[in-house]
Amino acid sequence: MPDSELGPIARPLRVAVVGAGPAGIYAADALAGQDDVAVAVDLIDRLPTPFGLVRHGIAPDHAKMRALRETLHHTLDHERVRFVGNVEIGTDLSLAELRRHVDAVVYTYGASGDRRLGIEGEELPGSLAATDVVAWYCGHPDADRALVEQAVARARDVVVIGVGNVALDVARVLSRAPGELVSTDMPQHVLDALAAAPVERVTVLGRRGPAQATFTTHELRELDTLTDATVLVDPADLELDPAAEEAMDRLVARNLAVLRGWTEHAGSPGRVSLRLRFHARPVRLLGTDRVTGVQVERTTVDAAGRATGTGEFDVLPADLVVRSVGYRGHPLPGLPVDERSGTVPHEAGRVLREGRPSPGEYAAGWIKRGPTGVVGTNKHDARETVKALLADAASGQLRPGGDADDLVETLLARGAEPVLLANWRAIDAAEAALGATQGRARTTLHERAALLAAARAAAAAG
Ligand SMILES: Cc1cc2nc3c(=O)[nH]c(=O)nc-3n(C[C@H](O)[C@H](O)[C@H](O)COP(=O)(O)OP(=O)(O)OC[C@H]3O[C@@H](n4cnc5c(N)ncnc54)[C@H](O)[C@@H]3O)c2cc1C
Repeated sequence: MPDSELGPIARPLRVAVVGAGPAGIYAADALAGQDDVAVAVDLIDRLPTPFGLVRHGIAPDHAKMRALRETLHHTLDHERVRFVGNVEIGTDLSLAELRRHVDAVVYTYGASGDRRLGIEGEELPGSLAATDVVAWYCGHPDADRALVEQAVARARDVVVIGVGNVALDVARVLSRAPGELVSTDMPQHVLDALAAAPVERVTVLGRRGPAQATFTTHELRELDTLTDATVLVDPADLELDPAAEEAMDRLVARNLAVLRGWTEHAGSPGRVSLRLRFHARPVRLLGTDRVTGVQVERTTVDAAGRATGTGEFDVLPADLVVRSVGYRGHPLPGLPVDERSGTVPHEAGRVLREGRPSPGEYAAGWIKRGPTGVVGTNKHDARETVKALLADAASGQLRPGGDADDLVETLLARGAEPVLLANWRAIDAAEAALGATQGRARTTLHERAALLAAARAAAAAG
């Protein structure tokens, strides 16, 4: 529709992006970096800090990957983007209220829930979801410290269930010698707890064969950097049936080459034996008041990649079990999420309600496509979504409507404490200052109160 029929556009299109992880930041970047439509973006996060899983998921010993924060930060500095942290949509502000303030909403709030194994004993103390352990070692303010630290303090035998990159992260972090972690930004109490943990054996369990494992070769090879651990693999676990051999792609071939290199390792000259075991399905977790073992059934894998039990069982002792079998998204009050996939139904990023695109609602990142891919995958994904949003703006389906009140003023008026860019900078500076006192580049502040106290220092400084 031509401008004359719409009337003059008095103000930029207001877009709220819900979740300041990679997908939200890439969406904000794609919106701010184009000149076809004037936009003002509010990049909202429930935490006082931006970066989502780049801060609270990527393992702290992956310094290069975590340094992605520097690149993502450019978007926070953009004049068309306003970071609004410490505001949870669905709690501090309902979706309906948010939508009254803006012309469009892009949901990028990730998939933070954990998938269940559905086996007996899963709820025993000492059985943790990888989400709990990762949140703890990354210093997420909502991490349950007591839950994880009680389990880590007695963890001599650890079983990690799952063969994706997150499972390897957890196994690697638990197998690191204390000296290998001191240069990371882990909170000090995490370093202390890991240094005191009695870990001797870590077993990573894959239900199917090495050809079906989803970890990347880079992540696998990193196990070779452990200074005080020996990686062990049973050659029998790596035998492929002819169909798998035939279907083997380059990733599987590279992974197998790395795994085969470890089959010659014997015993454990290091403090920790880290065993990768395949064709081993956990059947139940054993124990009465806490987990003591995992009963495992040997499997075979058919041509379609399905695992079938062989009836051959054994028991692995375990003081700590970490279940790393995937993440899933949850609904925000007022937003549909597909029960099975844990994602928001969409068409090229346009949110579908009852099968039809809902005007002014979009999704990107893990809540759009599920918990797969690397950080960069979210860039293409967010661009697709923003393309749809801009097309809707160009076709007149989306346009600045009325004189909505400013979101931050509304939040302040109702007693909320939004963390803006200057406040985040103050948190950033406080973490660098804390790190400097410990001879490190940065130490993560892990308590919401400490984060907000640091944020307030910016307000006090004017
Ligand atoms: C343990 C782990 C390790 C990983 N390691 C790597 C790695 O080494 N390399 C790599 O490339 N990729 C890695 N990834 C994948 C990568 O982190 C993801 O691809 C990416 O973070 C997904 O981006 P997202 O923005 O969709 O979700 P997220 O990063 O989860 O961001 C979602 C954001 O939304 C916020 N939010 C949630 N609910 C609300 C609400 N109601 N209101 C406001 N805000 C809300 C959250 O606080 C969060 O900041 C890892 C993932 C995990 C889980």
